[in-house]
Amino acid sequence: MIKVGLTGGMGSGKSTVSRRFAGYGALIVDADAIAREIVEPGQPALAELSERFGDDILNEDGSLNRAGLAAKAFTTAEDTAALNAITHPRIAERTAERFAQAGAADIVIHDMPLLIENGLTEDCDIVVVVHAPEDIRVQRLAEARGVDEDDARRRIAAQIDDEARFAAADVILDNSGSEEALLAQVDDLWNGRLLPMRDAVI
Ligand code: ATP
Repeated sequence: MIKVGLTGGMGSGKSTVSRRFAGYGALIVDADAIAREIVEPGQPALAELSERFGDDILNEDGSLNRAGLAAKAFTTAEDTAALNAITHPRIAERTAERFAQAGAADIVIHDMPLLIENGLTEDCDIVVVVHAPEDIRVQRLAEARGVDEDDARRRIAAQIDDEARFAAADVILDNSGSEEALLAQVDDLWNGRLLPMRDAVI
């Protein structure tokens, strides 16, 4: 098995890259999807969150109200620590389950925005960073997803910077041009590096 850590700033193009890898047959471990799964109705983490932060973090249908949780959980460091203590072990457990499903010949892509921040790069065979300049990312997020520009810039400012990402990267995919140009780099990476790496270990 080859473990690929895929990361990059908000709106850099991680999902676009990940979809291309999936098309090649890679197994995708999507950190954002896992973070949503563990707080679905019926999951123990959701019950613990409502016990800790109150029922107004729930919608009427019992699902998690994300804005309600954010308002409660990001007010003090203690609240944020409580949120993390409830969610992080579940996320880690489910992530490990996904990796355990991989066979020896699999190339597994860990699509993880906080890969570097959470110190997970050591566990990867190769770290791939998707990069695009901030102005381009903000413009794409505003156009494609209707994200508020100031909000996007605030969130980007709260993330680690490009220098820190480059320092952790084995490969940098440049997404400052067209999607086709990005996908061509993904194809080269898959064929020129990941498949040979995988073939060397099976
Ligand atoms: P997030 O951090 O929000 O999860 P992400 O890193 O997964 O984002 P994508 O969802 O792949 O990034 O891309 C962000 C937006 O930019 C999407 O709407 C995507 O379609 C668009 N996009 C990505 N690459 C390009 C490109 N080269 N040209 C134009 N639009 C692009």
